[in-house]
Amino acid sequence: MAKALQDWDRYDPAAQLEAQKEFFRSGTPRSVAFRLNLLRRLREEIERRENDLLEALSRDLGKPGVEAYVSEIFFTRLEIKLFEKKLRKWAKPKRVGTPFFYWPARSEIRYEPYGCALIVAPWNYPVQLSLAPLLSAVAAGNTVILKPSEHAPASAAILEEIIGAVFQPEHVAVVTGGVEVAEKLLELPFDVWFYTGSEKIGRLYAKAAAEHLAPAILELGGKCPCVVDTEIDMERTVERIVATKFFNAGQVCLAPDFVLIPDSLHDEFIERAVAEMKSSYGVEAGTDLARIVNASHYDRLCELLPESAIQVGGNDPEDRFFAPTVIPDVEWDDPVMEEEIFGPILPVVRYRDLDEALDILARRPSPLALYAFSKNRETLAGISASVRSGSVCFNDVLKQATNLSLPFGGVGQSGSGRYRGEFGFRAFTYERALTRRWFCKDPFFVKPPYGEELERLRKLLK
Ligand code: NAD
Repeated sequence: MAKALQDWDRYDPAAQLEAQKEFFRSGTPRSVAFRLNLLRRLREEIERRENDLLEALSRDLGKPGVEAYVSEIFFTRLEIKLFEKKLRKWAKPKRVGTPFFYWPARSEIRYEPYGCALIVAPWNYPVQLSLAPLLSAVAAGNTVILKPSEHAPASAAILEEIIGAVFQPEHVAVVTGGVEVAEKLLELPFDVWFYTGSEKIGRLYAKAAAEHLAPAILELGGKCPCVVDTEIDMERTVERIVATKFFNAGQVCLAPDFVLIPDSLHDEFIERAVAEMKSSYGVEAGTDLARIVNASHYDRLCELLPESAIQVGGNDPEDRFFAPTVIPDVEWDDPVMEEEIFGPILPVVRYRDLDEALDILARRPSPLALYAFSKNRETLAGISASVRSGSVCFNDVLKQATNLSLPFGGVGQSGSGRYRGEFGFRAFTYERALTRRWFCKDPFFVKPPYGEELERLRKLLK
């Protein structure tokens, strides 16, 4: 029997992990029926607390209801439903062949949980980016300690309630708090580590996981470029880039960070983008644009603004409303091109020669996503071949990342490992090799003294 957590050690991550290790060893989470039952209950609890979640997301980030519903609730529910439908199939051992010299024998690959998972989430999608890895980890048969971001406290509080209502803490527990709590977690011997957040902090988790020789899945950030060709449908291009750049006020790891545009199209793109921003967001601080998460991120964004920036409406620091902004004529070495923007600012860089522009991109850190707009297949193929990235989307933005049949993750500085749907199940399991033999006579069996065995084996194995 696994040891139950006492009230007094619920606030001690080391005691929680110890209780989870015992629960894992008890074998309870290995049952697929047990996992499926909890996934269903998690989905039902999310459905029951939908309004509370929407309110919390509005409190934390001023998320417009539509954006919060689609990206945090609907999408999470969709993924749980997929697991409910497919988990038995994914978890089923896979029969494989066995070399003839071991016959009679049977071999299979089993998908085994690692044990106790640590999941550390960021604030920009505080619900979805906590629950998506969590549901994969649970579906795979692990126990979980989840640390939501301290910068979205209302969402973290509801998550704690939802998880507390569905799971026993020996199985899944939420640890809230800031860096001081996270630093304690970094010292504990988790069996699998899953971190979403900035590259800088991601390195701390990679090191901690390496210390315990445990696998780490790192979902990091970076500057996702949006490369526009001359052969495009300008209206659709602008509409799609604007809608995705300002979704969640640009606080999206996959947002188009900047646009690379042919010299000849630059002015038209800026003119149309400004018109599109006005018609979508108006010039007042409306409710269709999320707010910046906190004052320090707000100030950081203000410092990126050059004189030339065009803002639609005015900033309101009190309300943390940062007006949608486009910056024309940006140079590669401008401050806004140094780090991931993670806010509603769209720099536009001109290029004269596409190959030259791609060469510059290829020398920069590999982004999470690469976006390319063109009617020409060869141009699209050339762009994707030139620049390494975690994912690619042609003629739109974000769509590749919201398809649960595709893997999600970065490469190089934008992260490592994949999740979502079946890829999430695989991320939290390892393939365990299993061979079964019987006690019958074994024609290939060898043991010393070898004597004439070499000659015999040479003939048999010809
Ligand atoms: P962050 O790194 O500041 O925080 C993420 C988590 O790390 C939080 O839970 C936080 O408590 C913890 N943390 C912070 N400092 C720590 C420390 N010193 N030691 C241990 N833990 C610490 O990241 P953020 O600002 O919350 O998120 C923004 C970044 O996340 C952006 O770079 C964005 O691109 C990236 N991101 C990536 C994805 C993805 O799926 N690849 C998704 C969302 C965000």
